[in-house]
Amino acid sequence: FNLMIHHGYADGVLKAGALPVMLPLTDDEDVLEEYIARCDGFLFAGGPDVDPAYYNETVHPKCGRITAPRDTLEIRLMRSLLALQKPVLGICRGIQVMNVVMGGTLYQDLNSEYADVQCEHMQRLEEYVPVHRVDVTPHSRLHEITGNTSLTVNSLHHQAVKTVGKGLTVCAVSEDGLVEGLEVEGHPFFLGVQWHPERMFTRDSASLALFEGLIQASLNMKA
Ligand code: MN
Repeated sequence: FNLMIHHGYADGVLKAGALPVMLPLTDDEDVLEEYIARCDGFLFAGGPDVDPAYYNETVHPKCGRITAPRDTLEIRLMRSLLALQKPVLGICRGIQVMNVVMGGTLYQDLNSEYADVQCEHMQRLEEYVPVHRVDVTPHSRLHEITGNTSLTVNSLHHQAVKTVGKGLTVCAVSEDGLVEGLEVEGHPFFLGVQWHPERMFTRDSASLALFEGLIQASLNMKA
């Protein structure tokens, strides 16, 4: 099978002044340790659905494709990064992995499991077009980085955070009440967003600020 990723993730890291590297799908502990030692910051990208077994649920009929090797890699890697206090930006699936690692759960399919859907979370407009608002928690890291308590964001997800994992703070909520941003207070940089800044950053400064926040935190760790 192919390892594919939207070009915007690497482009955003480059634009923010860092060198992007894509990790292989490996479960080799020695290889992972090398990446953890050599890389200063980590971006967890969008992708398929996390296996609900990781949050003690059975697979809902509307749950999407599951990629076991990617689940294994990302959950193991994120646990280490949390322990080592290495900077992490989670995007879409990335925020969902964050939440699951911290003991939270997910809506496996919003249209089936979330009665209050009022926004178009799986947009049909071009991927860079903002389609709904999120309210940003005042004084959160997200607020500090973007300088805003309200953002308009794109939306390309059919799952979302259900119960929030222990140790995580909600930093963004959609107009219809879904958690769209999570962070760990006290961690140098551990921030997840449910939207897709990698598809907006060339035209949206708040999206670019997320990449810059990750890179700045990574530089601070080296200093
Ligand atoms: Mn959304």
